[in-house]
Amino acid sequence: MFTEEEALADLDNQFREAADRLGLSGGLAEMMARCAVELKINLPVHLDDGSLVVRPAFRIQHNVARGPCLGGIRIGPHVTREQMRGLAASMTWKCAIVNVPFGGAQGGIKADTSLMSASELERVVRRYTASIYDFTGPDRDVCMPDVGADGRTMAWVMDTHSMHARHTVTAAVVGKPRGLGGSHGSEEATGRGVGILAAEALSRSGSRIEEATVAIQGFGEVGAHAAIFLHEAGARVIAVSDITGGRHLPPGLDVPKLIAHVEAGGTLAEFTEGTAVSNDELLRLDCDVLIPAATEGQISSSVAEQTAARLIIEAAHQGVHWDARTVLAGRGINVVPDVLANSGGLVGAYYEWVQDRMGYFWELWDVRTRLERHLLRMFDEVFETATRSGLDLRAAAHTVGVGRVARFTEMRGLYA
Ligand code: NAD
Repeated sequence: MFTEEEALADLDNQFREAADRLGLSGGLAEMMARCAVELKINLPVHLDDGSLVVRPAFRIQHNVARGPCLGGIRIGPHVTREQMRGLAASMTWKCAIVNVPFGGAQGGIKADTSLMSASELERVVRRYTASIYDFTGPDRDVCMPDVGADGRTMAWVMDTHSMHARHTVTAAVVGKPRGLGGSHGSEEATGRGVGILAAEALSRSGSRIEEATVAIQGFGEVGAHAAIFLHEAGARVIAVSDITGGRHLPPGLDVPKLIAHVEAGGTLAEFTEGTAVSNDELLRLDCDVLIPAATEGQISSSVAEQTAARLIIEAAHQGVHWDARTVLAGRGINVVPDVLANSGGLVGAYYEWVQDRMGYFWELWDVRTRLERHLLRMFDEVFETATRSGLDLRAAAHTVGVGRVARFTEMRGLYA
């Protein structure tokens, strides 16, 4: 395992290597490495007992070359300025790789949600939203949920922003409940994207999804939606797991039955079909496609040495430990990296913002069609770059993203 700081340092490294490959001038690379705007706020909040406390908070905007910023709001006891900077920068590169017209931002409130009542949380979120009001909005900086924030939090952010604007501004926030300007398909977008890219990566290596076997670690929002997409596409999902354990059935599990079981409150350890498999065993099973969709660093170098999979789709952020990358490359195992594999959610966030701005909402089939087209175009561009430059998909993706931001920056020129 590794810390978030180490993970962010790895992403920064990807940026610097891409900047070198692209031959960016030192000044341009320095400008792109740094955050454009950093807001530090000391939020005064009344607790339920009437006492007054001050919570440090941040909104950091990394890059505005390609459009307004987009970034999470995190609420937690370990929020730091450095962490916010790293997350904001990583969002810039992700948006550019996926080609959605945003720069990256990140916000955070240093407060322990487990020690707060709902009304204390609401007050701190509303005060935070009011404090960053001048810097946010559909054309400036769009807020989305991160750790410690959910649909209810984003509804408070949207409402507070709207009260200050004196009109309803749904597009200031994404990740909202559907009745409040949310989009169809947002909960499935990441998992569906994982499935779409698995099928495409297989087809590029001359295999067919209908003949593939798939193992998925993690059966939450991402893993379950990837499983249903792949099952419907004709793949055999031979193993799945959650934190309680997993099930393995070589002819293929009944995925709709599994989903019904989990929706009814069951765990995978309680599912009766197939044989029991531990989370670690699942990663070493005989399969064509392995999808880590639980937590970071699950594909360690030891898993990389033993996995029988030919293709890994890195659905979880940093699901492949960096020590494992060279082992996988040496064994000829292709990896669709996280910045591509889990980008369906980012495209879904973009679609929510677009629909809110239009005031016109697409039906589910329309969202799905657009998502597939968008992801396949993105994958094609990265795949072509990888083939042309002899890079792996991770390095190629960062080259595409950093190159896109650099081109925008140079074409706009510098206002002085
Ligand atoms: P989730 O909380 O809905 O589900 C996580 C699943 O992983 C659960 O089934 C849980 O039981 C299982 N799990 C947790 N710890 C585990 C462990 N140690 N071993 C095995 N299984 C374990 O989360 P999610 O939204 O499905 O996200 C999964 C991963 O995808 C995370 O890394 C997340 O950062 C990443 N991701 C999610 C989205 C999204 O839109 N939800 C977008 C981008 C990236």
